This record gives sequence, C-alpha cells and structure tokens, in this order.
Amino acid sequence: MAPEESQEHNQLHFLVIPMASPGHYIPTIDIVKLLAQHAVRVTFVTTPANALRFGSILDGAIKSGLPIEFLEFPFPSMEFGLPEGCESLDTLPSLDMLMPLFLAYNTLQERVEGYIEKLNPKPNCIVSDSFLLWPAETAKKFQIPRIIFDGMNCFTQMCNHVLYMTKVHESVGESDLFVLPGLPDRIELTRSQLPIVFNPGSKDMHGFHEKLRVSESEAYGVIINSFQELEQRYADEYEKLKGGKVWCIGPLSLCYKDESEKVQRGNTSSINKNECLKWLDSQENGSVIYACLGSVSRVEPAQLMELALALEATRKPFIWVVRAGHKTQKIEKWIDEEGFEERTKERGLLIRGWAPQLLVLSHPAIGGFLTHCGWNSTLEGVCAGVPMVTWPQFQEQFLNEKLVVQVLRIGVSVGAQNVVHLGAEEKSGVGVKREQLRKAIEMVMEEGKEGEERRKRAKELGNMAHKAIEEGGSSHQNMTRLIQDIRKLS
Ligand code: UDP
Repeated sequence: MAPEESQEHNQLHFLVIPMASPGHYIPTIDIVKLLAQHAVRVTFVTTPANALRFGSILDGAIKSGLPIEFLEFPFPSMEFGLPEGCESLDTLPSLDMLMPLFLAYNTLQERVEGYIEKLNPKPNCIVSDSFLLWPAETAKKFQIPRIIFDGMNCFTQMCNHVLYMTKVHESVGESDLFVLPGLPDRIELTRSQLPIVFNPGSKDMHGFHEKLRVSESEAYGVIINSFQELEQRYADEYEKLKGGKVWCIGPLSLCYKDESEKVQRGNTSSINKNECLKWLDSQENGSVIYACLGSVSRVEPAQLMELALALEATRKPFIWVVRAGHKTQKIEKWIDEEGFEERTKERGLLIRGWAPQLLVLSHPAIGGFLTHCGWNSTLEGVCAGVPMVTWPQFQEQFLNEKLVVQVLRIGVSVGAQNVVHLGAEEKSGVGVKREQLRKAIEMVMEEGKEGEERRKRAKELGNMAHKAIEEGGSSHQNMTRLIQDIRKLS
C-alpha cells in the first residue's frame, strides 16, 4: 500500500453497486474486499437478504478494520409480486419473475441518489455491475467517474466486439460454423452457440442490450476478473480498444485464504465443512472429478440423469452438485428410485444445494472439474490448477469454452451444440448424451501423455494465477494503477 493511501484525509471513497445474481454478486463482494485492502474506503449498496447471504463473508475483514460499510436499503419484494426475501436471481421461483426482480432493483436508484446528495465530499468513483443501467444516470448527475464490472474475461470481450462490429454471424445458418475474424486465434462457432445478445428472441431484449452497450461505452473503464498472463494477447487488444482503461485484477476468488471464508462464499454451504473435508481427505490426490453447473442453471432432470450415469460409468470418485431449480424434486425422485446414491456411495458424494466450491476445488484430491463454463467457475478451476470438462449452457459460456479448450488447452469439451437459454431448458431436452459426458471426463482424468500435458499446463496456469495477485504481481499492480487513475481524476 502506498503510504499516502493510508492517510485518512486523502482516502478515496468508492461506491460499489452489485447485480442480484450470485455470479455477479459474489465477485463484486471480492472487489470490495480488494479495494479496502488497498486502503480505499468502500460503501457497498445492498439489500437485507443479500447482505446476510453474500455479505457475511466480509465480517472478518470489517472486524479487522478494513474500511468497508454496507449501505442497506429495504427491498420492495412484495410491491413487485416477488416472494419475501427473494432478492437474487437464483431464488426466483420462476424465471418469469426476472423482470419484476430487475424493476424492484431499479427502485434503489432514488435511495442511492438521496445518499450521495447528503455526502460532502462525493464518492470518488462508482463501480457498478454492467447489467444495471441506472448507475450511469446517477454517475452523470453527480459527475462521478463510473467503472463497470461485467464478470467477463478479455477473450470474451474481444469476441463480442468482433461479432458486434462485423455482424459476421448474421449471414450464416443456425448451425454453420463461422470464424470470428481478426482475433489472435482462429475461433470458430455456430450462431446457436452465441450469447443471447447476438440471438435476441425479442425486440425488447435487443433494445435492452443496445442500452447496455451504450452504458458500457460511456463508462470510464472496465474491471476484469482475470489476470493478464492468462490471456495476454486478448488483454492487450482489449486495452487498446478501451484506451487503456481496463484493469485485470483477478482472480478475485483468491482474496480468501481461510477455509472458513471459502466455505462461506456465496451462501451457507449445504454440507458441513468437516464432513466435506473428511470425504476429500479419504480420496487419493488428483482422483476426484467435481461436477457443478453453477448457481442459476436449471438443467432438465432427464439431462442430469445422463450426467449422473456418466459419472457412474467412469468408475472414478466424484462429487456431484445436484441442482435442478423447481425440478429438484423430480431428480431427487429418480436418484431415490434408481438407488443411484446407494449404488455409488463408495466413491460418490452428492451435494444438494450450495456447494463450498472454493473449498472443494482447492483440495488436492480434485483432479478435474466438470463445469458449465460460467466465468467465475472457470477461473476458479484455473486457480485450482486442474483440467476441466467443459459443458457450456448459456450466455457467453461457449466463448469461455473456446478459451479453455482451444486457447489455453486445459479442457475437453463434452460437445454441446446449442445455447440452452435460461428459462428455455425444457425445450432443449437431452442435448448431451451420457456417452459424450463419459468420454470427456475420462479424457480429462486419463493418465496418458495428452492428459499429463493438459494437467501440467493447468498446474502452471494455477501457479501464475496465484503469483498475479501477490504484491508485485500483474493484478496487484493493476489494482494500484486503477486507484491511481481515480486519484488523478479526483
Ligand atoms: N458457486 C458455489 N457453490 C455452488 C454453485 C456456485 O460456490 O453450489 C459459486 C461458484 O464458486 C462461482 C459462482 O457461484 O463463484 C457461480 O458463478 P459462475 O460465473 O461460475 O456461474 P453462474 O452461476 O453465474 O452461471
């Protein structure tokens, strides 16, 4: 920390505004901690249930004196027809309630502006989730620089940029492979694998995405949860595009060292920490495949059965995080009737509900990670230094898969062909068969030359990730640069 940063009169004040989905909220909380560790005073805008669920991980940091405060506002769930306490995307009973959730969040604008109005001096910076439009108005109104955080990596940002500029996808058929022009690697995709912004179902969505794009282009800069060494060529390109105002400060998840913090991140773990560690300790190093498809995906029970049977067929130890949203009962019934848990209990652990993912991934027993390629999970896999089985579902996850499998060469694809948009899972049926899943898992876990090389590369990247956040590392330096940039503006 630079000595001047620790002087209170000179202390910068950041206002941080998250979006209500675990994949956004969790890393935003990490950003709060990191900023505070760099002696920035941070005010975090939150609501009661989210503060309790996501925020409690900062209790220790606050007690230890880090300058973090929560600005908690009541959440108008009932007014918008949401169940009480439902303040995050993954707790919605149905995705039809997505819009009410967003609208309820918009009511925070007035409250946040009321708070800023009374402040003198005003905050030096607003860090807000890129999916929220109103912080742009607020920042303009009070003339505060705004930085956005959208949870993607530089590779994906560049792919999106190329698609937006060239519209190359518009002249091809749904399942025709096409090349994204002008990127450092030859990246091929089909239109049916693209994020929703390039596959908009309705005009409304198109309008919303266009607004997001404008809001992003007007922001002062972008925080990226990645580290330069992981994707140097793409980080350089993206920085050029953004006039240098890109700060790769990740991997954010590495700001937790304690097992107790790791277990607390994102939600109360549904498995007892000691029970989980005891099971992992009883397995050989590098032998377990950990399968978790993120916090919001609602994969169809019939598709989950394929996964379960594939895990069984590999005859390897596994952890399976069972989640099927409102269809959980259906998959539970199958597990029960099939006797799946009983049959595989010698080498399988089922976690129902929230898994302590950071704790699991950092255990030496883990040898592979079957992931839906959400960026947080993917980067957490990189940090763990393990190869991945990639099974993208929606949004930009097919792009993340390309990064993992083709650019970094630390993953094996299960061969998913189409985006399964959130809320449209039923239509997709069983897109990936158990044989595909089994083969990909076995390839990742295999002991042959290819498997060894993949493992070696994954380990090297894991080591680089840890170095990036140490003092003197690229992400540490980028955080200092971000703070200096804001200081210059102030
Ligand atoms: N996560 C977790 N336990 C779970 C499911 C998810 O800790 O049972 C965490 C995971 O570690 C990651 C985040 O939730 O930090 C999910 O974000 P990601 O971008 O991977 O996917 P999303 O859930 O947004 O699709």
